[in-house]
Amino acid sequence: MRIIKQVQQMQKLAKQTRTKGLKIGLIPTMGFLHEGHLSLIRLARKEADFIVVSIFVNPTQFGPGEDYQAYPRDLQRDCRLIGQNGGDVVFVPSSEEIYPEGYCTFVELEGITRKLCGAFRPTHFRGVATVVTKLFYIVKPHFAVFGQKDAQQAIVIKRLVKDLNFGIKIIVAPTVRESDGLAMSSRNLYLSEQEREDASVLYKSLQGAKSMVEAGERSASRIIVTMEKMISEKPTAQIDYIAAVDDQQLEPLEQLSGEVLIAVAVRFGRARLIDNIILSV
Ligand code: AMP
Repeated sequence: MRIIKQVQQMQKLAKQTRTKGLKIGLIPTMGFLHEGHLSLIRLARKEADFIVVSIFVNPTQFGPGEDYQAYPRDLQRDCRLIGQNGGDVVFVPSSEEIYPEGYCTFVELEGITRKLCGAFRPTHFRGVATVVTKLFYIVKPHFAVFGQKDAQQAIVIKRLVKDLNFGIKIIVAPTVRESDGLAMSSRNLYLSEQEREDASVLYKSLQGAKSMVEAGERSASRIIVTMEKMISEKPTAQIDYIAAVDDQQLEPLEQLSGEVLIAVAVRFGRARLIDNIILSV
C-alpha cells in the first residue's frame, strides 16, 4: 500500500492506473477511521481494481468556532487499517497542498445546501463540494463511496456529480452502528460517559418514528413532536433540528409519502451528532 502526499504524484498514478484499464474507487474521509469507514472500503473492494482512500481534515468545511483544530487524528493507525481492509493508496495531502497560497475557487450548490445541517453550518457544504470536486480531479475515480450517515452530504454529492457531468458513480453505503444503535462517528470520541449513554436516544427516536409510520401515522409534526420528547428527556441533549423531508429536495413534509428522510442533529456537550433513516411510505 502506498502513501501519497502530493497532488501531482496522485494525479500521475491515477492517470497510469486508468491507462492500464483498471477501475478506480475513491473513499474520501477525514481520518480517525472506525468500522463505518472500513465498511466503505470493503464495499468498494467488490467493484474496484484500485482503491484510494483520502484522509484530509478539510478546513473549508468547518465554520468559525467549530472543531477543526480538535478533530481527532491518527494517521499511523488509519494507514494500517486501510492496508488491512484492501486499500491500495492512502492520499493524505496537507492543507497547503489542497489550498495553496492564493487559492480562491469554490463550488457552491444552491437550495439543498441551505437546509438541515446547512441552516446551522452555512459554509459547510461549500467546503465539502469544493474538496470533493478537487479529489475527483486528482484521483480520477470511476466511482466513489459515501456513507448514508451523512445523508445530506450524499444528496449534495450526487447533485454535484450530475450538475457538473463528472460521470462518476456515487455509491451510498448503509450506516454502521454501535451495539446500542449509536451511529459510529469520529466525533463520538468527544462524548463523556453520560453523553455517550444519552446519545443512543438518537437511533431510538428514529426507530420510534419508523414504528409510528408502520402503525399508520402520516403526520410529520406528530412524529417530530414524539421524537423531540424522547430526545429532550436526556439531560445532555440539545437539539439543533429534527426533520422529515423528501429525499431529493429536502423540503419539509406535512404528510409523509414517498421516500422520506427523517434526520436529526443533536449536540451532546461538544459533540454535534447527526443520524437519519429513510422510510418508503
Ligand atoms: P468522515 O471521515 O466523517 O468525513 O466520513 C467519511 C465517510 O465515511 C463519509 O462518506 C461518511 O458518510 C462515512 N461514514 C462516517 N460514519 C459512518 C458510519 N457510521 N457508517 C457508514 N459510513 C460512515
